[in-house]
Amino acid sequence: MFSQIFFWLLGLAMLLVAGFVIRKAILAVVHYRGLRVVTCPETKEPVGVKVDTAHAALASLTDTSELRLKACTRWPERQDCDQNCVLQIAANPDSTRYWNILVDWYKGKPCAYCGTVFGKLEWSERKPAMVDAQQNLHEWLEVLPQNLPQILETHKPVCWNCYIAQSFRRQHPDLVVERKYHYIGLK
Ligand SMILES: [Zn+2]
Repeated sequence: MFSQIFFWLLGLAMLLVAGFVIRKAILAVVHYRGLRVVTCPETKEPVGVKVDTAHAALASLTDTSELRLKACTRWPERQDCDQNCVLQIAANPDSTRYWNILVDWYKGKPCAYCGTVFGKLEWSERKPAMVDAQQNLHEWLEVLPQNLPQILETHKPVCWNCYIAQSFRRQHPDLVVERKYHYIGLK
């Protein structure tokens, strides 16, 4: 009877430890997954990178915060670099995330065409677009991560509805009846 209870308790303890370990590894994967934009220490220019999340998960189990990259827009040419940019990710895991940079950029800004002010973007929403000084429209996914900081300085946000309307207007000018538009910052 006593030995049965002992084995039950031992099994429970092992399950708890396994649960703790798995949870820690999953949290590390969630924390470091996704595309990021950092400044390359070598060139001082922006680069797009991805953290090796499998390695980050293993490192979290040994209580080391060591990170390494799985991909970089400067690879394969500079695949042998010392990956010092991971220090930026370790110091700012949220603000280096490509998605978060875009969310922060849109938030509180008006659409360049209709003036609707953007709130916090959600994954499930249709992704907005952007427009440059020559009024060329760009989809969000077109932007290469290494170009993102410069794009955000020179473009204005465009909501999904205006992106579709403007794209249609440009593709089928003969089918569009012009009405007065309230441009925000555009002529
Ligand atoms: Zn709009």
